[in-house]
Amino acid sequence: EARRAGRNHIEVCTAELIAVADETLAIGKDLRKALDEKGLRVCYQPLVDLTHGSVVGFEALVRWSHPVHGHVSPARFVPVAEEFGLISELGRMVLSTASAQIQQWSSTFGIPLTAHVNVSGVDLANPGFVTMVEECLATSGLPTSQLVLEVTEAAVEPQVETARARFDGLHDIGVRVALDDFGTGRSALSYLQTLAVDILKVDRSYLDDVDESKADDLLRGVIGLGQALGMEVYGEGIEDEEQRTRLRRNGCDIGQGYLFERPLPAEDAAVYLRQQAAPASYALPFG
Ligand code: C2E
Ligand code: MG
Ligand code: MG
Ligand code: MG
Repeated sequence: EARRAGRNHIEVCTAELIAVADETLAIGKDLRKALDEKGLRVCYQPLVDLTHGSVVGFEALVRWSHPVHGHVSPARFVPVAEEFGLISELGRMVLSTASAQIQQWSSTFGIPLTAHVNVSGVDLANPGFVTMVEECLATSGLPTSQLVLEVTEAAVEPQVETARARFDGLHDIGVRVALDDFGTGRSALSYLQTLAVDILKVDRSYLDDVDESKADDLLRGVIGLGQALGMEVYGEGIEDEEQRTRLRRNGCDIGQGYLFERPLPAEDAAVYLRQQAAPASYALPFG
């Protein structure tokens, strides 16, 4: 009886694995099609000055509305793109779209906005990556000083030497680097201090999952670590005033989150920028 239950269990697991593998294959095929048919979009989430609420830049986030399944999270399809050899094409699309868009807004609104673009560990490993970035910027006209490339701690860990070379190459052309989801990986101080990282983005678990009584100490610790290493520290996943205040009080000046804006389609981001540029017009009671 026990043995039969055991075998059934194995059969169930195998069936589940096959189902996941099938789904992954289907996503990979549909993604190939979406790339060909321009079915992917880029949304823009404002990065704001936490004191004044004014916009300093935008993080570009890729969006996919699947013809049958609807919204598919990038947390699901980006790893599939990596597995299917589609990630460099996806990455190039996001980078060229975002840098052209941010350059256009910067000139229209007269603010030197910063474009934050996420980079996969697979792209980081590509020796031609820096040249590709340079070409995208030349085409869009966005100054290299207005681009920040975000790489997760997890993408750096298995390839520290490669990351070092790539970050140095990006610095040589004037592009900055941010370490994303910081504090979730196992970054050792020994390598962190040798990498050309400009910005740490503290993972939102530091705002969300921590014991109230320890929240300030933990934040002060992680922000202090970044600052001691000469980096700027940004907050992400800021959902309420209390989290905004807590970040500010512990030395973090810039961040993003639903408290300010969700990732916006380009048209909505333009409306948001227009409001930012003329705040007085809606402060007037009878305006
Ligand atoms: P990330 O780079 O850490 O991006 C921040 C994520 O947090 C985004 O999820 C954003 O929508 C979400 N977020 C923003 N504010 C809040 C908030 O206040 N509360 C909560 N709960 N979430 C918030 P999204 O867009 O689903 O992206 C997930 C991850 O997928 C990104 O995490 C990034 O690692 C990856 N990703 C997204 N776009 C791209 C891309 O173009 N290229 C690559 N390689 N990865 C991407
Ligand atoms: Mg990011
Ligand atoms: Mg992040
Ligand atoms: Mg994340």
